[in-house]
Amino acid sequence: MRLFERYASDLDAYHERARIGPCFVCGIVARDLDFSGHHILYEDDDAIAFFNRWPTQRGYTLVAPKEHREQATGDFTVEEYLMLQRVVHRAAEAVRAEVGAERVYILSLGSNEGNAHVHWHVVPLPPGTPYEEQQFAAVMLETAGALDIPEAEKAALAARIGRRMGGG
Ligand SMILES: [Zn+2]
Repeated sequence: MRLFERYASDLDAYHERARIGPCFVCGIVARDLDFSGHHILYEDDDAIAFFNRWPTQRGYTLVAPKEHREQATGDFTVEEYLMLQRVVHRAAEAVRAEVGAERVYILSLGSNEGNAHVHWHVVPLPPGTPYEEQQFAAVMLETAGALDIPEAEKAALAARIGRRMGGG
């Protein structure tokens, strides 16, 4: 597999945008051009999957409900929650197949002060990653840095993952 350079993203700008900017998930759902760097992988009536704009790992995907909801469990009925987790499962399996992950991490974070729209991180861990670079260290921009992947390459990978997820 090709290796990509890592870079320290502008974390101050990222956090400021997350805290005072418009909701980024709603922006992606609405196709707001300010959020065009995410590459939508999959969309159905209720859920959307797209790439993290600042990926710490190749294939780093986010899955979210299209409606603006905030609590990972409390804003969903059990049935709605399980429907969303079906998409998380499809995303994880598609990403795993495309990038050859040793494990796939799945987590929901967010903050009521920024990034409030609930979403699930689907993060493939590349085979052979040293132990101390796994788990949170593999997920967080602060520790891993962002991978500098050319947009054309992201678009091609997004198309392949989207096809595996069975799109639209
Ligand atoms: Zn939203």
